[in-house]
Amino acid sequence: MLTTLRRIIQEVNAARNLDQALNIIVEQVREAMHADVCSVYLTDEVLHQHVLMATRGLDPSSVGRVRLGFDQGIVSLVASRAEPINIDNAPQHPRYHFFPGTSEEQYYGFLGVPIIHHRKVLGVLIVQQVKPQRFDEEQENFLITIAAQLAGAMAHAETSGEMEKLLNQHETRSARPIHGLPGAPGVAIGTAIAIYPTADLDKIPDRPVEDMDEEVKAFNQALEAVKNDICTLSKRLQEVLPREERALFDAYLLMLDSHSLRGATAVRIMDGNWAPGAVRRTIEEQIQAFAEMDDPYMRERAEDLRELARRIVHHLLKDARRDVDYPEKTILVGDEITAAQLAEVPRERLIGVVSARGSRTSHVAILARALGLPAVMGVTELPVGRIDGQTIIADGYSGNVYINPPKQVRAEFERLARDEAALSAELVNLHNQPSVTPDGKSIPLYANTGLLSDITPSLNSGADGIGLYRTEFPFMVRQRFPGEEEQLRVYQQVLKAFAPRPVTLRTLDVGGDKALPYFPIQEDNPFLGWRGIRITLDHPEFFLVQVRAMMRAACGLDNLNILLPMISHLAELDEANNLINRAYQELLEEKYQVTKPRVGVMIEVPSAVYLAKRLATRADFLSIGTNDLTQYLLAVDRNNSRVAALYDALHPAVIDAVYKTIIDAHSVGKPVSVCGEMAGDPAAALLLIGMDIDSLSMSASSLNRIKWVIRSITTETAKGCLDEVQKMDDAVSIRNYLNNILEQSGLGGLVRAGR
Ligand code: PEP
Ligand code: MG
Repeated sequence: MLTTLRRIIQEVNAARNLDQALNIIVEQVREAMHADVCSVYLTDEVLHQHVLMATRGLDPSSVGRVRLGFDQGIVSLVASRAEPINIDNAPQHPRYHFFPGTSEEQYYGFLGVPIIHHRKVLGVLIVQQVKPQRFDEEQENFLITIAAQLAGAMAHAETSGEMEKLLNQHETRSARPIHGLPGAPGVAIGTAIAIYPTADLDKIPDRPVEDMDEEVKAFNQALEAVKNDICTLSKRLQEVLPREERALFDAYLLMLDSHSLRGATAVRIMDGNWAPGAVRRTIEEQIQAFAEMDDPYMRERAEDLRELARRIVHHLLKDARRDVDYPEKTILVGDEITAAQLAEVPRERLIGVVSARGSRTSHVAILARALGLPAVMGVTELPVGRIDGQTIIADGYSGNVYINPPKQVRAEFERLARDEAALSAELVNLHNQPSVTPDGKSIPLYANTGLLSDITPSLNSGADGIGLYRTEFPFMVRQRFPGEEEQLRVYQQVLKAFAPRPVTLRTLDVGGDKALPYFPIQEDNPFLGWRGIRITLDHPEFFLVQVRAMMRAACGLDNLNILLPMISHLAELDEANNLINRAYQELLEEKYQVTKPRVGVMIEVPSAVYLAKRLATRADFLSIGTNDLTQYLLAVDRNNSRVAALYDALHPAVIDAVYKTIIDAHSVGKPVSVCGEMAGDPAAALLLIGMDIDSLSMSASSLNRIKWVIRSITTETAKGCLDEVQKMDDAVSIRNYLNNILEQSGLGGLVRAGR
């Protein structure tokens, strides 16, 4: 056996690539062990599957097609236990999973061993025989030894990206999606463009490059630039550092010139990867080699290498030549996408957003919705580094993302996208129609804005006014607090554009996850800290300037409502009212033709729900901010994807809180609106109609969808739904029930892809 083992190892080492190595192994092992079948499965971490990659004995067309989920089949059991399984009757094993068309049914004896490198299971090697008999001990040891040899080759193939390529080459690869959370409705099919923080080497994606010679040239220039930096640094430290310490810089220079860095990266570039991606891969491989060394000094050099790579990449990315060429149908993907990154892509090229972090109420999802872009959030398993340039499908309804989908899946989504487009075109016709239920109840629909300087989408949406203007955004894009005149111009623009329709301007709501670059706040618990009205009441000078600007902007228009965020105590409303009155009196004294604005309170903290009646008595209207209300009622951070499954505005407690607020406000004759994302959710809108809500405010892109619900559902039906929902225990059952009602009413196109 030893000679056979040596021969196989030699042949595997001489193989051109992993695919060939796997085929040599299955061929030779089957022969050496006199087995009827030998197969290798590779572990696909992205899709959580073990994929058949080479076989002798099973139907060859099964390669790439047979995929076992992490909890499927005996193969997965070998991987999860990370130890061999040797049995005489596989079909009778409780974990046996039969794949039609593999001709596997005739094999009984089964031996599977895991292929493990550094405690990580990279795949499974199996042999099978017709005889209902276990393989003997010598055979088992032989297979374990082969698997150990294979592990080295596979680990190498994993770092070099070859394994990924191999998995990718089979078209069935992503018939199964990666799961995230619905962020903004719609379906996008396009090219992924990865956004990454340049300071984080591990996040640099692979990216195809056309002119490889140019790319190698750029890489060499970056290397020279880093060498120059290091020489300069070394010279500068001549006086302060002893010679032996400075020897480190010489070591750096040697590393930079080494073939393992320079040569290996150049080869990767010539294979078609762009220089930053090639540098990352080279460094990953070398760091792995260092980590395996016994010498602690050498292990520490891994960090030095990382630092050098960071410097090279920094030089490469600084180069203006590397501006991203956004494809026609760009889907922006990233670990975390900021509003600024989203704004960088030309609007006509951007068709979707996929983010590894965040949830439906993260501000980037709100922005995507405002732009009418489908978005999927909280895709924790998103392979950001390996997705750039790939075709992906983002389903903003289900929260699913498909990478390189097979033809059938793509065709199905293309059909759904066409239906969607047809539906949206039909809905556009609604924008001149009134928002009235079939039994005559009018529910005005307002737009949320402020995220964008451009108010055109809200104007074109047919909104009855602006229900929430988030003033923090004009504050965020400046380098200092904007003065009264600057604010006046911003507010005037929107008040004028909508007059005589009402415009609700919210006073500054910073803190929490919204920071001003020039007003940093350091807190352990920012969402429970200094935010919203708490800041502006502590700084009456900001508050007064802001409400003065608002009232002046409304001179002669008389369509201003002022909304106060984060009210949790009655005294806050009293103080804010006093300041507004003071500003009003001052403006009158200054001879401005101002009128007294209507003042409303946001209900977005649990205490405000309990105070709703008293707040409504002292204010002109209430507006329920369900984004924060859900966060605070359920104690679930609205931006944390790890707990995002717990965040749902259809939770029975949130529904009760919203309903109680509406009843309390009405009991003292005051109107209530919902301006959180719940208002734009068709299922929730159904309930809100049943609760007798007075108006709703949402992203301009959701407006026609909600109008369709209102124009299709009578208040009686909606009240019936509310009664049913109040008997239910959890958000999932409530959503399923409401979606079903929408589907039965012919409105299914609002809650799933298609028409
Ligand atoms: C809310 O909390 O529901 C709300 C509308 O405000 P924001 O999303 O700006 O916090
Ligand atoms: Mg809020």
